[in-house]
Amino acid sequence: MPDTQLNKIRHSLSHIMAAAVQEMFANVKFGIGPAIENGFYYDFDFKPAISEEDLPKIEKLTKEMLKKSIAFKRKLISKTEAKKIFKNQSYKLELIKELPAKEITIYQSGDFVDLCAGPHVKNTKEIDPEAFKLIKIAGAYWKGDEKNPMLTRIYGLAFSTKKELLDYVQKQAEAEKRDHRLLGQKLDLFHFDQEFGMGLPLWHPKGALLRQIIEDYCIKEYLQNDYQLLRTPHIARLDLWKKSGHWGFYRENMYSPMEVEDEEYIVKPMNCPGHILIYNHQPKSYRDLPLRYAELGTVYRFEKSGVLHGLIRVRGFTQDDAHIFCTPDQLNQEITACLKLGLKILKTFGFKEYDIYLSTQPKKYIGSSKNWEKATAALKYALEKNNLKYQIDPGEGVFYGPKIDLKIKDSLGRPWQCTTIQVDFNLPEKFDLAFINEKGKKKQPIMVHRALLGSIERFVGVLLEHYAGALPLWLAPVQAEIINIGSSHQKYAQEIHSQLLANDIRVNLSSENLTVSKRIREAEIQKIPYILVVGDKELANNTVNVRHYRRGQEGEIKFEKLLEKIKKEITDKII
Ligand SMILES: [Zn+2]
Ligand SMILES: [Zn+2]
Repeated sequence: MPDTQLNKIRHSLSHIMAAAVQEMFANVKFGIGPAIENGFYYDFDFKPAISEEDLPKIEKLTKEMLKKSIAFKRKLISKTEAKKIFKNQSYKLELIKELPAKEITIYQSGDFVDLCAGPHVKNTKEIDPEAFKLIKIAGAYWKGDEKNPMLTRIYGLAFSTKKELLDYVQKQAEAEKRDHRLLGQKLDLFHFDQEFGMGLPLWHPKGALLRQIIEDYCIKEYLQNDYQLLRTPHIARLDLWKKSGHWGFYRENMYSPMEVEDEEYIVKPMNCPGHILIYNHQPKSYRDLPLRYAELGTVYRFEKSGVLHGLIRVRGFTQDDAHIFCTPDQLNQEITACLKLGLKILKTFGFKEYDIYLSTQPKKYIGSSKNWEKATAALKYALEKNNLKYQIDPGEGVFYGPKIDLKIKDSLGRPWQCTTIQVDFNLPEKFDLAFINEKGKKKQPIMVHRALLGSIERFVGVLLEHYAGALPLWLAPVQAEIINIGSSHQKYAQEIHSQLLANDIRVNLSSENLTVSKRIREAEIQKIPYILVVGDKELANNTVNVRHYRRGQEGEIKFEKLLEKIKKEITDKII
């Protein structure tokens, strides 16, 4: 953690809380208590154990202590002195043993002394007692090692002001409501099944339909932008991945090989080698370039179970992948076009804010410096041509080329990595890619990898969190629900149902087993954009009574008019 004032406040709070704990619980032993993102924690060994019900009491005493203007005093001491001070603190003694003798410092604040490198605030006056809050306890192994004793970790939130704390708490509550894993269950879109395997989502009918809608839209855009679609299988010979270099530098993310008739195969972690073999299948001339090969390609990458997170981090996912092969002269226009298309697609899904990063040449790289400069210039040119603000991430490019990464911001302002555009000098070399130029000479094309949404799985997760599950009409798997009030309106409801279906509208005719109010409620829980109620009046007037999920009650409207309205909203992809 950098030594900012806020981190000093957070770390100092961990000490003051520990001081409160020391006063309240005899025989407690202290582990460590650092500042962390949004707050701090401290690990304790309590005998007997405490529970979350103790937190308000600890918080109260911490607050009282903060108001006493306690100073933090730093002292450099010898190892012998340190061992004496912490003679009853086994965890501290263990830490002292590991420390170089000349670097042992302690911090004293009131009656509490901690082995600590600092830094801290000078005085608790710098800390707003209303700007922190203890939130939970959790078990944590000493030094993170499961062979060690399990300690009790108390977590606190801490900010500079009370307002910042309240804003954070509110945002967290909002984020919890939007958690795509919960929405996935509630809206019946997907689930993860231990029996199937971790990190492998199973898509239910409505989720599969949502994916299809997203994929169809992407494919339409690709074709309109002169891409060609490819399909490549899910497994390929291990030798291919050795040749591409993946087996060498990407192995930890790949699954183990399987044997097929004395040859080794692996499930693909990337789509690139397949696309390259298609490029190489026929000799290419400059007239064939640029070639834009796209595939909604499903890849499998090993992720440790601990980092899996809903649809955001999975073990198998579908990339909206493409590879562009072009001449060096075409690079500028191709990168610009990629970026433009990416921004257009993201905007259509409702994302208009981004953080953009340009990652440049790392220390270890392949390809000539001249090419790196040219490729980096092309990426810069594209960003500037599109009037996009960006930050340079110096040396953060991949070893095979520079790249642009785009993080979209959702409705809560949280960033999500989506678009990536990467220039690659490695694979054209490894696979001897070539084209014949105007003068009849063999030349190497430039290869660009690009994914605009990133992965469909991840993007669905982001969409659900962004819209809190209330998807825009064009994306909603069920766009309208028809509810007839009585059985005398059933025939009319069925007519409307068929007409909407005939117009490609995804509509459901609700079952009559439940009461009307329950059926309306159910449709609202499912966040269906249009609820269409029909009764006597609607039957007589050839109308429907419209209730829109986000806009609320819209009242009686002629069916023909409604149909036109819905169709236009879908075509225009209204957000
Ligand atoms: Zn400390
Ligand atoms: Zn690729």
